[in-house]
Amino acid sequence: MNFDLASTPIEYVKGVGPKRGELLRKELNIHTLDDLLRHFPFRYVDRTTFHTIVKIRSTDADVQIIGKFKNLQESRSKSGRRMIIGTFFDDTGEVDVVWFQGLKLIKDFIKPEKKYILFGKPNSFSRRLSFAHPELEEYGQDAEQGRAVLQPVYSTTEKLTATGLHSKGIGKIMQNALDLIRNKWNEILPPELCKKFNLIHREMAFQHIHFPKSESDLEDARFRLKFEELFFLQISVVWQKMLAQKNTKGLVFDQKHGFLRSFYLEKLPFKLTNAQIRVLREIRSDVTSGYQMNRLLQGDVGSGKTLVALLSILMAIDAGYQACMMAPTEILARQHYQTISQMLYGMPVVVRLLTGSTKTSERREIHKMLENNTLHILIGTHALIEDTVVFKNLGLAIIDEQHRFGVEQRAKLWKKNVRPPHILVMTATPIPRTLAMTVYGDLDVSVIDELPPGRKPVATYHITEAHRLRLNGFLKNEIKKGRQVYIVYPLIEESEKLDLLALEKGIEYLQHTFPLPDYQISVVHGRMHAEDKAFEMQRFVKGITQIMVATSVIEVGVDVPNATVMVIENAERFGLSQLHQLRGRVGRGAEKSYCILVTGDKLTSEGKIRIDTMCRTNNGFEIAEIDLKLRGPGDLMGTRQSGLMNLKIANLATDQLVVQQSREAAIHLYENDPELVKPEHQQTKLYYQYLYASGSNYAKIS
Ligand code: ADP
Ligand code: MG
Repeated sequence: MNFDLASTPIEYVKGVGPKRGELLRKELNIHTLDDLLRHFPFRYVDRTTFHTIVKIRSTDADVQIIGKFKNLQESRSKSGRRMIIGTFFDDTGEVDVVWFQGLKLIKDFIKPEKKYILFGKPNSFSRRLSFAHPELEEYGQDAEQGRAVLQPVYSTTEKLTATGLHSKGIGKIMQNALDLIRNKWNEILPPELCKKFNLIHREMAFQHIHFPKSESDLEDARFRLKFEELFFLQISVVWQKMLAQKNTKGLVFDQKHGFLRSFYLEKLPFKLTNAQIRVLREIRSDVTSGYQMNRLLQGDVGSGKTLVALLSILMAIDAGYQACMMAPTEILARQHYQTISQMLYGMPVVVRLLTGSTKTSERREIHKMLENNTLHILIGTHALIEDTVVFKNLGLAIIDEQHRFGVEQRAKLWKKNVRPPHILVMTATPIPRTLAMTVYGDLDVSVIDELPPGRKPVATYHITEAHRLRLNGFLKNEIKKGRQVYIVYPLIEESEKLDLLALEKGIEYLQHTFPLPDYQISVVHGRMHAEDKAFEMQRFVKGITQIMVATSVIEVGVDVPNATVMVIENAERFGLSQLHQLRGRVGRGAEKSYCILVTGDKLTSEGKIRIDTMCRTNNGFEIAEIDLKLRGPGDLMGTRQSGLMNLKIANLATDQLVVQQSREAAIHLYENDPELVKPEHQQTKLYYQYLYASGSNYAKIS
């Protein structure tokens, strides 16, 4: 690639003067020739087919007609605007055409004896078909031949359009830009890759992405450019990861003490699943490797991540280190604290809980115990990462439910020890592996792809208000059998008055329908004090209450195996992964469990997909993929990763195969030539540096 040429200011392109140049920079962030060429069409219109007027409907998209004009005249609209109206006709009928702008040009251009190709979107006006400002082209051999078969459509803005840079205008300067790079746009991908993946030459790819001569040309160009884009993204991810691995020395866990062993032999409540064993091996190998562990543990809800966490913690304690575990909510932190203290009962390991509502005196005590190393495991919320919390020798930090935490928080944990502790991030929002490896480029990925034995998939049903009475009967029946029930209301924003109102009404209705003393109801929502929440939660956990009415605060982690029904009100308002999380609260015991999605009668098409998906499958990975396609990757990760959002042509959600291929290629390149010194890799290296230098976000991925 010719880098000087690539970074030439756009004014260098024929047709771009100072005014257009300024606007292109301001409006579309296009500064250089390279930027311009990367302003890819967002769609193409097929200019190979022609329509006859008789067959056109006002509901059609863009159509193309050959015909002549008659009755062209200047006139004024009702509001007094000057305009030209006329009739365009072919052998089968006629349509009205109207212009409000460029009247003189139109008058000069159109000759009644000549044939034209008219292109535009039909409308219906006073029951006649009409076109406003259609594109026009004189019909004839020349026009036919010079024309791209698939015409590019570019995004543009009002201000640009005013200077003639509407989609077609951009097409024109694009043509000029392409003229500039002819025979100068060198290959930047390693030759062995081009060969292996049959990639077309770079220059041709740019020609064809803008002006494809056929669908297959377009496909080849797309693949080539997506591959290139993702390959350089992967280079940055892979190199960063490899370098971090090399540079960050890790604590080496030896087995001074025998806690893990004695827990395993005496206290382990059940046999580990094969997936749990595999993951624990991966973790063990990390913490004894001499490098710092940075591992993402993905596992569907209920797959038993907590136990993996506990066993990893014991590895740290065996080596004489402290461990901490951070959860996104107080309820969840408390639950982890209880589970872990119970499991460790009788062992000389000290566990404490630290949250926002921990009293000052207790907090002081915890701080002291941490510093003199009499506290081994600290569990809590983000209160853990506050600066006042100082460990004596933190060896392992676990973050549960990653999607609520950002990269910055992870970095804070790093700093809790002189030599950074090993980090294990656990998430129940599984994302496709290739995507995980890209988004969490600095993390290794482990997957628990197996649920503990005996789990029955949760039967999921979709109902509307019409089935309310039947639902009540069903719930009463389950409760009679001794089971417990969740009823969840959407309260996305805890401050939303309407939501709160709905919740209050819902509670009132439930108290009526499920009256005391036969039925006891717990209520938990985000506006309550942490202690009250915990109290209500405990009543439900202990089985004192049969119904738990909650907002989405129970979304993560709560474990009540006796609960068999999850009712989700206004289910259409929840995201797919949230619905799946909620459903994961039931189906934890031996009894058959149910998830009932209650919605209004009308659903948006996306809402329908979400509900249907839930009814169809229990597989978290499948659900995550659909969620990803519905929402796009940015949303899913919680933290926006700018580099990933900056992709111009590839899409991490829909181009997973290319992501995978380009990643393997980048790893291969690293293994082959980590310093990129081989002559055949010089262009690749230069281009990568060019991306860095031009401040592209590629390099900024965490
Ligand atoms: P999650 O991965 O969603 O955090 P948990 O760790 O809460 O899942 O585990 C869900 C339930 O499965 C808990 O009740 C836990 O005790 C149980 N469990 C975990 N591992 C096993 C196993 N190997 N065999 C049987 N039950 C298990
Ligand atoms: Mg969990």
